[in-house]
Amino acid sequence: MRKSAPYLFLGQTTSLCETCLALVPAKVTAEDGCVFYLKRCPEHGVQKTLISDDIAYWKSQRDWLKPGDRPLAPQTRTDHGCPYDCGLCPDHEQHSCLAIIEINDACNLSCPVCFAESSIKRDTQRSLTEIEAMLDAVVASEGEPDLVQISGGEPTIHPRFFEILTAAKARPIRHLMINTNGVRIAREPGFVERLAEFMPGFEVYLQFDSLRREALMDLRGADLTRVRIEALEALERLNISTTLVVTLKKGVNEGDIADIVRFALKWRCVRGVTFQPIQDAGRNDGYDALKNRMVLSEVRREIAGAGVFALEDMIPLPCNPDQICIGYGLRNGETVAPITALLPRDILVDAAPNSVTFEGYPELRERVFNLLSLSTAQADTSDKLAEVLCCLPDAVVPEGLAYENTFRVVVMQFLDRFNFDIATVKRSCVHFVQPDGQIIPFDTFNTFYRPGAAGARSLARAKGAAR
Ligand code: SF4
Ligand code: SF4
Repeated sequence: MRKSAPYLFLGQTTSLCETCLALVPAKVTAEDGCVFYLKRCPEHGVQKTLISDDIAYWKSQRDWLKPGDRPLAPQTRTDHGCPYDCGLCPDHEQHSCLAIIEINDACNLSCPVCFAESSIKRDTQRSLTEIEAMLDAVVASEGEPDLVQISGGEPTIHPRFFEILTAAKARPIRHLMINTNGVRIAREPGFVERLAEFMPGFEVYLQFDSLRREALMDLRGADLTRVRIEALEALERLNISTTLVVTLKKGVNEGDIADIVRFALKWRCVRGVTFQPIQDAGRNDGYDALKNRMVLSEVRREIAGAGVFALEDMIPLPCNPDQICIGYGLRNGETVAPITALLPRDILVDAAPNSVTFEGYPELRERVFNLLSLSTAQADTSDKLAEVLCCLPDAVVPEGLAYENTFRVVVMQFLDRFNFDIATVKRSCVHFVQPDGQIIPFDTFNTFYRPGAAGARSLARAKGAAR
């Protein structure tokens, strides 16, 4: 008698063997409302990986797709096939929404979780000349880059940090961001005043995993509870746009998600919270995928628990719907009017959304203002969210409201040995810029290309086999 399969077969993709990181075929299957990859490596056998525990949301990701926005020119050729031609190669489907420039590997912390494997024991600081070449590379690729993030290591301890910010500001970059653990902002008098000189168009991406000591000890190896608050107080004083960045490790800090969303709203300077489940790459001490891995749909549900954004307010981001989920709202103090679910879908998936104006939707405008109990507002629209997330149209900040009146939650799920998907990675829009001018997706860089990456052998084999 024939037996039916214990799952629904949804399709097939190419993923990675979780042991040797070779490319392997993966069946995409559904069971009990969840989506899995069933992989088969000739050497390491069958592996089953959870991709989503919300099949309805997972299926909806396709409905939000919009045409890719290509970079001006590729840096490499299509030669060995994806992911061995980064980058960007002509096969990549999305430009750099966010280009990251790592200026050092030195750090004033040694976190147990650090994809860059930075620490207090490392001391490399890139030269200003090298960094300027990296800035020029992203300008050559993008024309006017939407968002460049200066990262590390800990970028604020680079001896020429402020000269680097000045060099970035001198280029046609729409928005500049620093990715920091906040230690120097918290501890050094006068430091935040110097940062404020780079506003507007400047934002701090502040590491903020938890308010609890135990979680911080697990993720950062130090009790940073005071540092976190002192850094925020300094940023609040000068109202420097800040995004809180939460690295998520299941069993450690997923219970803090809702609290952090509510806590963020107490600060005028905080424009949103970005949640990033750990990408299993670099230093990741004690990580057990069975216990610590978290998928995007789980994070989305936890955020809804804060009572600020409902599930339907958090949608797949049209340029990269598999990896990024966004809830976007307008705020008045601690009150938020979520608007992502209210906007007509065609605004968000339009190929050229910046041409749409909010004024075409007077009822929506009125509804938002009512929700926020606003009749008139300060007119300062110079520093809009649309410039921070190029995928969202200007329309989402109505005339009369400033960037300060926006609030967003983002879930950013990077790809690693577990959830790697060859189709998804081609839409990756967060990229590392290299000193040689190459621009490499976050997911493939940390998995294959970063010196010492777990996939380095797989990459070498693929390139060698092709010779
Ligand atoms: S990830 Fe993108 S840049 Fe890299 S090989 Fe694939 S298509 Fe090319
Ligand atoms: S995660 Fe950030 S703060 Fe921690 S060691 Fe790495 S670079 Fe430093």
